[in-house]
Amino acid sequence: MKVPFIDLNSLHAPLEKNFQDVLLNCLDTNQFILGDYVQQFEVEFAKYCGVQHAIGVASGADALKISLKVAGIGEGDEVIVPAHTFIATWFAVTEVGAIPVPVDIDMQTWLMDLSKIKAKISAKTKAIIPVHLYGSMVEMDELLAISKEHKLLVVEDFAQAHGSVFKGQKAGSFGLINATSFYPGKNLGALGDGGMITTNDDYLAELARTYRNTGSLKKYEHTVLGYNSRLDNLQAGFLLEKLNFLDVWNKERNQLASHYLSRLQECENLQFQQSDITIYHTYHLLVIKCERRDELLAFLKEHEIDVIIHYPTAPYAQEAYKDYLFDSYPITDLLLKRIISLPLFPGLSIKQIDYVCDKILEFYA
Ligand SMILES: *Cc1c(COP(=O)(O)O)cnc(C)c1O
Repeated sequence: MKVPFIDLNSLHAPLEKNFQDVLLNCLDTNQFILGDYVQQFEVEFAKYCGVQHAIGVASGADALKISLKVAGIGEGDEVIVPAHTFIATWFAVTEVGAIPVPVDIDMQTWLMDLSKIKAKISAKTKAIIPVHLYGSMVEMDELLAISKEHKLLVVEDFAQAHGSVFKGQKAGSFGLINATSFYPGKNLGALGDGGMITTNDDYLAELARTYRNTGSLKKYEHTVLGYNSRLDNLQAGFLLEKLNFLDVWNKERNQLASHYLSRLQECENLQFQQSDITIYHTYHLLVIKCERRDELLAFLKEHEIDVIIHYPTAPYAQEAYKDYLFDSYPITDLLLKRIISLPLFPGLSIKQIDYVCDKILEFYA
């Protein structure tokens, strides 16, 4: 049996006709950049997240960068980030001229260890970026309490948590301004690049709209030194179609993850990401922490099970940051040596999951 890591073909197959209609509409109306689909999708996505405003941009990386920019983060500021995340979280901080200040992760949740934030706060600290990694969520009530006490802005990175919920509230609705990605492999993915900013702040929403469109709300009037970071009408049309299925797909991810857990929970060589029962985990990724990781990885590949490591190298250990001085982050270092992401996507069969689990249990037997 072959088990792919992700299968977008089968996810998209039933939507092909809808996608064609979207393309024909764009050809017909000649709306390619921004446009009616973008407006509609912004309204629907804001509603979905439970916020006032959503602003479509070209990528998740840009959504983060523009969020920080309009929140006033810049040269010389420090921004608290998790040591363990996709590097784009950090790049956004660096791009606006600020300095990423990493905080190690919690041994159980694998998310930013909230108890370690205070020690990293200095007079220059301006913001915190909680990252809801793998589809779980940072405990936002606690994080907001810390941010309030120290007067720090909160910018959520919910690129991996479309539809995740903490105490009844959706990811992307807690921070002052928040960012997500529609990279094709995300729980809600475009057929290309795309991203979104969410906020309840009218002023920041308008400023973000200005920044994404070369600093302009009115043609040829440029009020700020903005960027070209607009969402394509075509992608917004595709995303509108896919948004209808997001909850169903997330539920399926959640159920498939439960099956994995029920099969593997007893295996003493494995550990799973722990999350509080008040969190609805949308399993963007199902990650196991395991003994003899590299051997298991090779064994699974040998048996045609496609697995990936998210991520093999921490941002602070990347060459891109060689000129920066960072503390050490032992929990992250340890986790990155032990993790494997298993196949998990809507349409994956129980049979395939059983095969993967059989092989893992066989490996440790
Ligand atoms: C995917 C991702 C991003 C960046 O999104 P792009 O659309 O690829 O730029 C940022 N942060 C996290 C946690 C991500 O997973």
